Amino acid sequence: MSDYVVGLTGGIGSGKSTVADMFVALGVVLVDTDAIAHELTAPEGAAMPALIEAFGTGVLDAHGALDRGAMRRLVFAHLEMRERLEAILHPLIRTLSAERCRMAESSYVILAVPLLVESGTYRERCDRVLVVDCPESLQIERVRRRNGMTVDEVRAILAAQATRAQRLAIADDVLLNDSGLAAVAGQIGDLHRKYLQLAAKKLKASC
Ligand code: ADP
Repeated sequence: MSDYVVGLTGGIGSGKSTVADMFVALGVVLVDTDAIAHELTAPEGAAMPALIEAFGTGVLDAHGALDRGAMRRLVFAHLEMRERLEAILHPLIRTLSAERCRMAESSYVILAVPLLVESGTYRERCDRVLVVDCPESLQIERVRRRNGMTVDEVRAILAAQATRAQRLAIADDVLLNDSGLAAVAGQIGDLHRKYLQLAAKKLKASC
C-alpha cells in the first residue's frame, strides 16, 4: 500500500506518457486517469450501461465501446451533454483512481492527470505535483507528428488547455523535456531518488 502520491501533468505533447513510462520502468506504480477512462468506456466497461441509458446506442462503435469521435462531436455541440457525460464518468474515475493509488505496491505512486490544473480535486490528493514542460512549438511539432494533425488543429487543443504559466504555477517539480530522451531519463533518476526519500519521510512521520 502506498501513501505518497506524485501528480503528473503537462500539456498535450509535453511528454507525459514518455515520462510516465520511464517511472514505470523504475518499478513505480502508475495510475493514469486517461487509461481508466478508456477502461470504463471499453466494451463491457463499468460506465457503459449508464452511458447507453443517457445517450442511446448511437454513441457505440462496432465493438460496443464508446465511440469517442461521435461522443466528442455530441458534447462539442451541446454543453448539457458534456455535463451529463462528465457526471457519469468523473465520479467513477475519481473512485477507481483513489482505490488504485491506495492499493499500489510501490513506495510512491505516479498519478497521471492530464487536466490536473483544470480539476482541483485531484490536486488535493497529491503530495507533490510534477509538471512536464516544454516550449509550445515543440508540443505542436510532436503532436503533429504523432497524431497527423495540422498545426491549427493542435493549436485549437492547446487553446482549450491550461497555459504553460498556469501549469508551472502549481508545480513542485518541473521536468523540462526540450531535448533528447537521455536528458529526460537523467531528470527522472534524480526525481525518483527524491520521491523515495520524501515517501519514506512521510511514512516515518505517520508511524
Ligand atoms: P503527452 O503524453 O504529453 O501527450 P507523449 O509522451 O505522448 O506526450 O509525447 C508526444 C510525442 O513526442 C510522442 O510521440 C513521443 O514519443 C515524443 N517525445 C516526447 N518526448 C520526447 C523526447 N524528449 N525526444 C523525442 N521524442 C519525444
